[in-house]
Amino acid sequence: MEKQTFAVGERVEKFCEKCQEERGHVVASVSKRGQISRVECPKCGTRSTFKSRAGAVGENASAKVGAPYDRTQTYRKGQTMTHPTYGVGEVTAVIEPQKIDVLFNDRVRRLIHARVQA
Ligand SMILES: [Zn+2]
Repeated sequence: MEKQTFAVGERVEKFCEKCQEERGHVVASVSKRGQISRVECPKCGTRSTFKSRAGAVGENASAKVGAPYDRTQTYRKGQTMTHPTYGVGEVTAVIEPQKIDVLFNDRVRRLIHARVQA
């Protein structure tokens, strides 16, 4: 059996009871052995336990394609984008006026947005 470890902020696919759909969740906490203990749905914010299953990571069942990432654009929570390096992502939170958290296929990354061009 392949041993897989995880880190907080990584992405896993899970069925959200509240949203009633299989979607990307963010790992909220892991055990000392690197196993997921809790995940959070970026859409509704529900935290739930996670039972790891083989091949669950990286499977993007509903591949939504967003417009190319543009740092001058202003994003809102829930918007999708296609990043040239990381692929398709979904905005999970607006951290600061010019910073957003985006959930990509593997993990959450912080990007800038609403950048006024010099
Ligand atoms: Zn949800």
